[in-house]
Amino acid sequence: MKQEDNRTRPKRSIRTKLFSALTVMIVITLALLWLMQVVLFDIIYTNVRVSEIEATARHIRLFSDQPNFFRTVSESTSQNDICADVIRADGSIAYEVENTSTCLLHSLTVSERSELVAYAGETSLFKVNYDTVTDSYSLEAFSGSVLTDASNILYIESITHNSETLYLILDATVSPVGTVKKASASFLIILSGVLIGVAVLLANFLSKSIAEPICEISRRAKALTTGSYTAVESHSTELDELNASLLAASHDLEKVEHMRRELIANLSHDLRTPLTLIGGYTEMMRDLPSEITEENLDTVLCEIRRLTSLVNDMMDIAMLESGKTVPKPEIFDLTKEVGEAVGRYGRLTESEGYHFSFSADENATVYADKTMILQVLTNLLNNAMTYTGDDASVSVSQTLNDAFVRIEVTDTGEGISPDALPMIWERYYKVDAAHKRAAKGTGLGLSIVRQVITAHSGRYGVRSTVGKGSTFWFELPLYSPGLTDEG
Ligand code: ADP
Repeated sequence: MKQEDNRTRPKRSIRTKLFSALTVMIVITLALLWLMQVVLFDIIYTNVRVSEIEATARHIRLFSDQPNFFRTVSESTSQNDICADVIRADGSIAYEVENTSTCLLHSLTVSERSELVAYAGETSLFKVNYDTVTDSYSLEAFSGSVLTDASNILYIESITHNSETLYLILDATVSPVGTVKKASASFLIILSGVLIGVAVLLANFLSKSIAEPICEISRRAKALTTGSYTAVESHSTELDELNASLLAASHDLEKVEHMRRELIANLSHDLRTPLTLIGGYTEMMRDLPSEITEENLDTVLCEIRRLTSLVNDMMDIAMLESGKTVPKPEIFDLTKEVGEAVGRYGRLTESEGYHFSFSADENATVYADKTMILQVLTNLLNNAMTYTGDDASVSVSQTLNDAFVRIEVTDTGEGISPDALPMIWERYYKVDAAHKRAAKGTGLGLSIVRQVITAHSGRYGVRSTVGKGSTFWFELPLYSPGLTDEG
């Protein structure tokens, strides 16, 4: 279901994605700023102003019986832009402080002030509702509601100073919210414009530094298969890594392509030669019955065997690589099996002048696929026979080290050059395909050795000195009880 969604989702360029992401981010930021401005600003502003009045009143109350009472009233109100009147019950003024011009307090008459006295002792905070038409005001108990328009808040409290009852009236203007809101609204509009501009520039810059190199890399990647990929200049580590991986892939692909071409050439050569020979000899024997000799039939048979062995090797490799052939391990005496195989080779090739020898320190038991391991040995023995020197000798030895048993097959041939050594384990690789003896092989023998030994968690390798000969070896884990349980 999810896969289907991915398939149907329209693809967009990195530039568009970056721009959309940045736009979303900016929209969220602006929305939060607008929210702060529209909803929270009034609440916060009103609360701050109210707590300023209350704190000022509390502070003044502490000094009501002190000689510096009036100085305290003056100082603490001026700090918070609050106007203050200290009046007597008859409305006359005992002390007054005018810190802002927007205060209502100072425009009141004596009788109006004496009316205010009546409010002292009830609710302390009042909102002044001023009616501009009748030029009159009324007081409304302030319940902590949010003030959105310019308003005055009065704080009225009776206090005792020098045994006289006085009335402290504080007047704070809660006015600038609207103005500040308007100012910040235009600020927000400018900010929105600037942020959108920045988003466009950023999206362009990011897409230039990310998307463009990627586009260029993908354009050049089309040349990957021909191995002619060239790195794109980039300023980021990730793109450098991508470049490096693609360069490596390009080299590998070039190698694979080269091997593929060689493979086709080798295969067609390996198949065509025996087929031509078989065809030619058979035709000749059909046309000239006198040519049906044992020697000619042997040649045909030999070529058929060669073809069969090539096809068998190809099948083995294909099966091993596809995982269709998995080792069927059993416990067996490797020393005995190797000794017998070497003995058979010696007897079979004695008449041709070959000399096979085998030495072993002590008997080694392994838990492995016997047929596969003997095929590995056969491949190594065949190679040693093919490539050994004029003395036609091949020696096989077995040694034990730690938990492994090692079999070494040594010949006295031409050896292999260090350049070719790492390649000989590759499929269809032949050191010198033109070499008469090498042309006999299929180029698959060592590849099968590699596959089989790897499938047995073993190790393999070769030591070779040009002009002196080569030693091919493989190691298998020694059998120990408990191994079979895992295997
Ligand atoms: P092949 O069937 O051609 O022998 P292999 O995979 O067994 O294929 O070997 C690959 C190549 O390695 C051979 O073509 C040969 O050039 C080289 N090689 C293998 N064994 C020996 C050896 N004992 N001495 C020298 N060269 C060898």
